[in-house]
Amino acid sequence: MAEPGQHCEDDAVNRFVQWRHALPNHWKYCPLCGAALSDRQWDGKIRRYCTQCGFVYWDRPMPATAAIIYDRASDRVVVVTRRYPPAVGGHTFPGGGIEAGEGVTEALLREVREETGLTVVVDAQLGTWSTPSKETIITFFLAHPEGGQLLAGSDALDAKWFPVQAVPELVFSLHQAAFDLFSAQHRLGTL
Ligand SMILES: [Zn+2]
Repeated sequence: MAEPGQHCEDDAVNRFVQWRHALPNHWKYCPLCGAALSDRQWDGKIRRYCTQCGFVYWDRPMPATAAIIYDRASDRVVVVTRRYPPAVGGHTFPGGGIEAGEGVTEALLREVREETGLTVVVDAQLGTWSTPSKETIITFFLAHPEGGQLLAGSDALDAKWFPVQAVPELVFSLHQAAFDLFSAQHRLGTL
């Protein structure tokens, strides 16, 4: 099986919240002292560097997390419809970026609550992969509902249970790949 995220077309680039993903040469001024940044080689790569205070801009992918929420009794999973770019109206699993000061599963529980109204219990980690653009790394978890009512939150246009066999096409290739992995385990009865 191909590694999730490989051999896929690049997903739509997020141009909505782009400051974090600005190209290094778009960083013009030092965020600490305001002096103009220049280039300098660190660890074999050219990085933006402040000659005044020594600030170095380390350009790194953004960590995120997402959940396949599986209800064994009804054999269904939760799919949300995106409210915000990229891919407004597209189907994905609930999830989002990890905030500073948050643990990985802490972020997952918050994002799931915000997008679906559900509280969930994490059962297993499905894997951690880079998105095709390499801008984000997403850790996918398998979880089951514990409480709350399924209701789309402010981040989602809709949130619904779908039978595993009738999950709509997912808009991001990495979400689709995580679901393919889930489906393989589902067929084997190892979930
Ligand atoms: Zn500086």
